[in-house]
Amino acid sequence: MKMEKKYKPEIVEKKWLENWDESLYCFNGSSDKSSYIIDTPPPYPTGDFHVGNALNWCYIDFLARYKRMRGYNVMFPQGWDCHGLPTEVKVEERYGISKRQINKQEFRELCKQLTLENIVQMKDMMQRLGMSIDWSKEFVTMDDRYKRYTQLSFVKMYRDGMIYQEEHPVNWCPRCETAIAFAEVEYEDRNASLNYILFKKVDVGTEQEAAYVEIATTRPELLASCVAVAVHPDDERYEDVVGKELAVPIFEHTVKVCEDESVDPAFGTGVVMICTFGDRQDVRWWKLHNLPLIASIDERGQMTEAARGYEGLRVAECKTRIIEDLNAQGLLKKHEPLQQNVGVCWRCKTPIEIISTRQWFVRVMQDDIIKASDEINWYPEHFAIRLKNWVDSMEWDWCISRQRIFGVPIPVWYCKRCGTVKIATEDELPVDPSMVSPKEPCANCSSTEFKGEEDVLDTWMDSSLSALWVAEWDLNAGGQSGIAFPTALRPQGHDIIRTWAFYTILRSLALTNAIPWHTILINGMVLGEDGYKMSKSRNNFISPDEVIQEHGADVFRQWAAIGGAVGSDVQFRWKDIVAASKFMQKLWSILRFAMLHLSDYQYEERAVSLRVVDKWLLTKLNKLILSVTDAMETYKFDEAMKDIRAFAWNVLADDYIELAKSRLYGSSGDEGKESARYALYMTLETLAKLLAPFIPFFAEEMYSYIEPGRSVHREQWPEVKQDMIDVEAGMKGNLIADIVRDVRSYKSNQSIPLNAPLGILRTDAKDLNRRDIEDIANATVTKVELWGDVGEPEGEEIILNVSGTKVRIIKE
Ligand SMILES: [Zn+2]
Ligand SMILES: [Zn+2]
Repeated sequence: MKMEKKYKPEIVEKKWLENWDESLYCFNGSSDKSSYIIDTPPPYPTGDFHVGNALNWCYIDFLARYKRMRGYNVMFPQGWDCHGLPTEVKVEERYGISKRQINKQEFRELCKQLTLENIVQMKDMMQRLGMSIDWSKEFVTMDDRYKRYTQLSFVKMYRDGMIYQEEHPVNWCPRCETAIAFAEVEYEDRNASLNYILFKKVDVGTEQEAAYVEIATTRPELLASCVAVAVHPDDERYEDVVGKELAVPIFEHTVKVCEDESVDPAFGTGVVMICTFGDRQDVRWWKLHNLPLIASIDERGQMTEAARGYEGLRVAECKTRIIEDLNAQGLLKKHEPLQQNVGVCWRCKTPIEIISTRQWFVRVMQDDIIKASDEINWYPEHFAIRLKNWVDSMEWDWCISRQRIFGVPIPVWYCKRCGTVKIATEDELPVDPSMVSPKEPCANCSSTEFKGEEDVLDTWMDSSLSALWVAEWDLNAGGQSGIAFPTALRPQGHDIIRTWAFYTILRSLALTNAIPWHTILINGMVLGEDGYKMSKSRNNFISPDEVIQEHGADVFRQWAAIGGAVGSDVQFRWKDIVAASKFMQKLWSILRFAMLHLSDYQYEERAVSLRVVDKWLLTKLNKLILSVTDAMETYKFDEAMKDIRAFAWNVLADDYIELAKSRLYGSSGDEGKESARYALYMTLETLAKLLAPFIPFFAEEMYSYIEPGRSVHREQWPEVKQDMIDVEAGMKGNLIADIVRDVRSYKSNQSIPLNAPLGILRTDAKDLNRRDIEDIANATVTKVELWGDVGEPEGEEIILNVSGTKVRIIKE
């Protein structure tokens, strides 16, 4: 078997991708092994499986492969979370249309097409990265089966009182024209202006008293929606106006001045106007003080009739006009620039409005979720607090209805005669109620005339079922899972703790009364070479494809393992890629050398009389198994990979091979040669297995030389052989390796060729015996004498201090 000098990942990786049997990574439903179910993220099919995804999936794959080798029946499924706004926006862009201009069915078809195209691309990248995904467990949330599951979960939660419909203020994107959840509101700093506006007192007591109260606001366009004015109860400046009425400028309706502890006296003039609704604080005040509701902005972001004289204007235009009008009437005292943190739509960055509309909500049981989170093993642990903070900050329930098209329809009708809500029955699912009528008449009035719900569900309603779906949880069986539930592992990014992690826990509690997974493993983000978050605009963007093209998938995977600790953000650096690539070549050279001596080797579990250097290697190897296993169990992939690298490079290649080389080249049947072959074989065989989770292509190639016809990915994880850990041989071997290394570096410092004879080497290391020193002599090309064996030497003497012992070289 001829092996080329240079390792060629492009050939090896392609070969194994073509040759690997599909069944290699299949979950076995009838196995009696313990199962290890992974609740893999179903990515949004954008078409771009980016470097951040790739990092996350590498972590998942390291674990999946490791657990399989540990004897678990592993399920590594892959889903696609298809619905939602980004695809709709893409379709609108691609075809230059808006959702209002096209028939709903046609629009959905365009979204589906785009999604399918994108899935193909992302799947290809996952495969090329060597992900051991069980594709027989692939799921697509826009498929009828999954849609049915989502709708059934809605029906079940509705029946259990966990879902309800209500008119309530919600976060609203006027561009996307839909309600959005808290988790979809992002905050950005924007330049705003703070306007000081005069509100006239309705009855001024005395002539000396000022006629106006000055109020600073960033949103004068909401004056029509002003329903009250508030001051802090301890603010002495406004004692006399509390309880009195003020006239709202321009619109001239009157509002009362109330007191509220949460008014900040230091902001503006210390007086605030309460509008329905400027922000979340307005919603709080509106509820607390039981105020009326005047909606002046509609669902498209235009002024309503309530804003008399401004109706039909966009919010920004209205603001400009009102400021001009206030100025003309002398009611604008001044305005000053202000940096403001504005809530914007996560998708289109349009500032959100808070609008009261009739929506569907899922009840958020804050305490239950926090309790459940405490039962889950968070890794790294500190991320648990993010979930808690998020849950604590929620002000109202989860709004799940979206006024969009590409989503799972809400399976509900309304009776046209009496308005009664009709929920779809199980055998009607999946259903689009806007297209199909219910089978039964109205339970209240027997009418058969219905109007179907037009809204669709928030896409997190689909993806928050992923754990239940992969575990084949039967939503009807009342607590039956096809497989194991809770699942073993949820791997995900920290950017979606407040969405995916939160919603999954919530849904799992609501539908099963149990936590969804035992462990949640959080990955960090990938930063560019410049240390900033990767973005196309910064030009620090790397695609995994670039790395694969140049160096192969194994190299990318090595970077993912070693780039940083799980949970921390990882910087992408080409020099790490180059280092990983060099390591591949090193491994290949080791293998190439080893195969010269092992191609005809027949391993037998027999008592070989092992030389000290071989015992030393096997001691180090077994310690490596220990440390790598330990690191894998605690998700420290970086430590595992570093340990493997250090062993292969320093111990095996630099030290051991130099020490054992001449014995390996010795005549066959020789005891020293057999001892070395035994140690080398054991080491390579084990190393291939330890490498298998990280660099599956190379490990398979390596194993195909060592164990022809077998796949390393069907093997068991190596067991530590305690009897191979020989403390004494370990210490002696270290000393021998140290001596050889120092003598060799002495030679190279002196410009003496490494293979040139040096003379006599004497060591005073007491525990070395005659047989032990053979390898030193061979590796240093000297005649080695033990101290005390001979008298004073003649000739030039060089003394080296090696690990506390003296080594003398007598040059000839
Ligand atoms: Zn939007
Ligand atoms: Zn009815």
